[in-house]
Amino acid sequence: QTIIFKVSTGILIIAFFYLIYLIRVKRLLKSKLILKQMVEDRTTQLEDAIEELKFSSLTDPLTQLKNRRYITQYIDADLKLAIRAYKNKSPKESDLVFLLFDIDHFKQVNDTYGHLAGDAILVQFANILKASFRDSDMLIRWGGEEFLVVSRFVDRENMSNIAERVRQRIEDFEFKLEDGRVIHRTCSIGYAAFPFIQSNPEVGGWDQLINIADIALFAAKRSQRNAWVSLSVTKDLNNEELARVINTSQNIISSLMTVESSIKNLDDIVWEK
Ligand code: GH3
Ligand code: MG
Ligand code: MG
Repeated sequence: QTIIFKVSTGILIIAFFYLIYLIRVKRLLKSKLILKQMVEDRTTQLEDAIEELKFSSLTDPLTQLKNRRYITQYIDADLKLAIRAYKNKSPKESDLVFLLFDIDHFKQVNDTYGHLAGDAILVQFANILKASFRDSDMLIRWGGEEFLVVSRFVDRENMSNIAERVRQRIEDFEFKLEDGRVIHRTCSIGYAAFPFIQSNPEVGGWDQLINIADIALFAAKRSQRNAWVSLSVTKDLNNEELARVINTSQNIISSLMTVESSIKNLDDIVWEK
């Protein structure tokens, strides 16, 4: 009996300590799980915050279009694709058209109706651009009342129709002020397509292309406003000649470039200040 008693007491004591051990293990496992879940939650929160930061650092807060930083981050991949398509002799739908828009006499809006009204016009202008181009195009607030659109993987021949359509759309649009008043504005547009030299697609970077679109934009602005002008070359140019075109004079433009415009008589275009 004593032996049986001793053995069963021993078993009970072992069972007791084993139970305590099991309870501790369970608790440990539970707290480990909680910790794991906490780490996962924090990681997701951090990833969301990074995404949000990335979005806001690339977005213009007023118009919700992209900003300049966006294009510098993403344009290289597009340029490579366009160059490759031209090198492979399959240039269909491989152009990147850079269009610069500048609202005409925008300062007057601020001066007459106030800065907030100006802001409202900028937002509505941006919305017209959003509605006029594809979701996959790059829409960028380039400066105060200047916008850059990169129409991606298109045929440059179709761009005059699109530029004209947007010009007309802006001209017809009833911009609404907060107090219900309606005003009209126009814009000037300059554009050029990449690759600038189709026979030699690696000549000229996108910054040079923007310079060329800018020359076209200011020609539209100086000549008439509410107009678009585009510049392209049909000749082979090397990098040096292209640089010369960018530091332009009317001679170089007329001898090396093809001009298209909504301005009927191309001789009316004023190239220089
Ligand atoms: P032009 O036809 O020659 O382009 O004349 P403009 O008046 O449009 O051009 P100008 O460069 O003289 O004036 C641009 C104005 O845009 C001046 C600036 O105060 C205004 N502007 C720039 N950014 C903003 C903005 O975020 N909000 C508002 N409301 N105005 C802005
Ligand atoms: Mg401007
Ligand atoms: Mg302007």
